[in-house]
Amino acid sequence: MLATLSQKIKAKAQELGFPLVGITTPDPPPHIPSYLDWLDAGRHASMGYLADERARTRRADPRLILPECQSILILAAPYADPRLASVKLPSPDGRRAENERTGIISSYAWSDDYHLILPEKLKVLVTFIEEEIGAPVPNRWYTDTGPILERDLAQRAGLGWIGKNTCIINPQRGSYFFLAEILLGIPLDIDAPFTTDHCGTCTRCIDACPTQAILPNRTLDANLCISYLTIENKGDIPEDLRSKLGDLVFGCDICQSVCPWNRFTQQEEPVLLKTRQDVPSPNLIEELSLTPQEFNKKFKNSPLKRAKRRGYLRNVAVALGNAKDDSAVPALESALNDIEPLVREHAEWALNEIKSKGEICQS
Ligand code: SF4
Repeated sequence: MLATLSQKIKAKAQELGFPLVGITTPDPPPHIPSYLDWLDAGRHASMGYLADERARTRRADPRLILPECQSILILAAPYADPRLASVKLPSPDGRRAENERTGIISSYAWSDDYHLILPEKLKVLVTFIEEEIGAPVPNRWYTDTGPILERDLAQRAGLGWIGKNTCIINPQRGSYFFLAEILLGIPLDIDAPFTTDHCGTCTRCIDACPTQAILPNRTLDANLCISYLTIENKGDIPEDLRSKLGDLVFGCDICQSVCPWNRFTQQEEPVLLKTRQDVPSPNLIEELSLTPQEFNKKFKNSPLKRAKRRGYLRNVAVALGNAKDDSAVPALESALNDIEPLVREHAEWALNEIKSKGEICQS
C-alpha cells in the first residue's frame, strides 16, 4: 500500500518535471553540527538570516516546521547545462578571453526565476497526493526558501552524494539541478540513503576555484565564493578579489563545470526551467548603461533581479575592469555619474585598471 502510493507520487513528480525524486524521514539531518560550526566561523558572510536562532533550531529538526511530518519528498528540477547552450563557457580559471566583452551569467539564472516556477508544480503534486489519499494532508513545501538542510536530506533520500564542491551530485545527472522539498503528514516508503562517495581523490573543483572558496570539509566560505560576491553580497566586492571574478557577472559555475560527473548530464533542455534567449551572454558595455526601467524590463521574472540593478552593474563594471579593454572607457566614464554610489565606485576602479594597463605597456 505505502509502496504503491509512493511509486504513484514519484511517477507524478517525474511527469511534472522533477526527474529525480526520493523520500526520507523527518529525522534531524546528520550534518547539523558541522553546519552550526560553519555558521559560528562566520562562513555565511552577510547572510544573517542563516544564523538566525529560530532558523538554526528549525533546520535541526524538520518536525519543528511541520509537527505532523512523517515523510519528506525531495525533488530535483534540472536547469540548463552550460555545455548545451550556444553561449561561451567560463574558462576553468574564471578569467576572460582576450578581446571578449560579453559577461558570463550562471546557468541557473538563464531561465525565469525558479521561485516563480517550481511552487506551482509543488502545489499540483500536493493536490495529487490529497486526491489519492482522499483527504487533506498536512504539508509544507520549499524551494530553498525555508530552514531545511536540503542537501543532507537529498543524500538521505538517495538522490546523490555531497561532493567536495558542496553540491549534491547524482551519478546519472550530475549537479545542475535545484532541490525542492515537500514535508508530508503521511507515512511513505522511505528510500535508502546514498552512501557512496564518488569524488575519490579528485580535487578539480577545489583546484579550479579562482578564490579558493572551497574548504577541505565539503563546505565553502561564502566570503570568498563568487556566487555570493556577485549575488547575495549587497556591498563592495573586496578589491583583492575583483580580478578573480574575470567576466563572471552573476554567479559562477566553475566548480560544477570542471566536475567530471557533469559530463553525464542529460543532453536536453530542462522541462521546467527553459533558457531565456535574452539573458545568457550579455554585452557588458550595453549593460552598463541600463537605466532602472530598462533593467526591470529586461530582467522581469529573472533571478538577476536578486542582485538588483546596482549589484549587477557593480559586477559588470568589475568585469570590464578585468578585461582592461580601452573600448569600455566611455561607458565606464558615464557610469562615474550613475545614480548608485556602488556602481560609481566600481566604475572608477575599472577605469584605474584600464589606465594601469596603459602605464604597464608604456614602461
Ligand atoms: Fe568531487 Fe571532483 Fe566533482 Fe569536485 S570536481 S565535486 S572533487 S568529483
